[in-house]
Amino acid sequence: MALVVDVFSARTDNFGYLLHDQATGKTAALDAPEANAIRDALERTGWTLTDIFITHHHIDHVEAIAELKAAFGCRVVGPRAEADKIDGLDELVGDGDTVTLGETSFKIIATPGHTLGHIVYFEPFGKHLFSADALFSLGVGRMFEGTPRPMWEGVKRLRELPDDTLVYCGHEYTQSNAKFALSIDPHNRALQQRADLVNSLRNGGKPTIPFELGEDKRANPFLRADAPELAAHYGLEGKDPAEVFAAIRKGKDNF
Ligand code: ZN
Ligand code: FE
Repeated sequence: MALVVDVFSARTDNFGYLLHDQATGKTAALDAPEANAIRDALERTGWTLTDIFITHHHIDHVEAIAELKAAFGCRVVGPRAEADKIDGLDELVGDGDTVTLGETSFKIIATPGHTLGHIVYFEPFGKHLFSADALFSLGVGRMFEGTPRPMWEGVKRLRELPDDTLVYCGHEYTQSNAKFALSIDPHNRALQQRADLVNSLRNGGKPTIPFELGEDKRANPFLRADAPELAAHYGLEGKDPAEVFAAIRKGKDNF
């Protein structure tokens, strides 16, 4: 049996996700952005919350932990490296650990940069990646706590996952990410096609999530920091890709 994912919106531009293990009925909220949005999704699906999987300590990802835990008595899993910043964690995990939801397993991958202890959850059987603010469609999260090299290393590890992995990220930033990406990688056909698709989805009021990792490998400039075109755009030909990654991140911050 499989993992079923319910996608909904929360707060202003956060995505909320319910992860449902069909074999056992166990259901996890991926992050806890907003209690009411999560309760609505539970009501709509008819599922009962048993777990919460936290990716990082930002308020728009943890705010509803206390309320949901009080209401459902659920287990809360989260990053060991941010345990001092997040109240209510029951189980601490780090890079290489496995978390189970009934018969479904998730591999934890450390993705430092947006926050130092940021983790993502990868489900290898159905190939679902819950990337929160480490990897967006056509972008990555702002580098609030990390430095470029470890952030680039983390992004590269995500790039090693299979092309047909479905990515579920933390925010609907795709359209603005596409604009920036086109400004620095204007001749990339895969990116041009993605941007067109994204614009038509958004114009139709539809979310751009989930997206295929393989498509993002060809179009997301942050996943292409070692491509010669991007080095050339910043005048960094032959330089360390981590330097190019830093230049792209800075370029996006000022876009
Ligand atoms: Zn965040
Ligand atoms: Fe966020």
